[in-house]
Amino acid sequence: MYDYDDQNIFAKILRGEIPNRTVLETEHTLAFEDIAPQAPTHVLVIPKGPYVTYDHFAAEASDAEILDFNRTLGRICQETGVSGAAGGSGYRLISNAGEAGVQEVPHFHVHIAGGRILGRMLAQEG
Ligand code: AMP
Repeated sequence: MYDYDDQNIFAKILRGEIPNRTVLETEHTLAFEDIAPQAPTHVLVIPKGPYVTYDHFAAEASDAEILDFNRTLGRICQETGVSGAAGGSGYRLISNAGEAGVQEVPHFHVHIAGGRILGRMLAQEG
């Protein structure tokens, strides 16, 4: 059902074939700065396993991977200072999937964006 392309750019980052600016690395998860940031804080969080989308990850990742991913995601929101609960101005989590979601890189990732007012949730587009 899910066809993972191991030549995608995040797979290459995970194999060390291209560099990244790592924010945090754990056993199952890597977080790094987006190369084209759209907000003062723009971090990408990815599982190390070969998952294409959120639903793929949720269906097929192990409990350990899912726990590690979620704890890491929350930790980065706090450690980058964007967390509203921790005195920051807040943030948005985004995970694009597939064509309608305009997913550019077919390896599941969550964007953490913050550090400015981000505007409304979805832009209207024709
Ligand atoms: P998406 O549309 O959700 O698939 O977004 C993919 C994101 O990956 C974009 O925000 C890109 O700027 C980012 N990106 C692409 N290549 C790299 C790279 N080599 N290092 C870090 N971020 C990247």
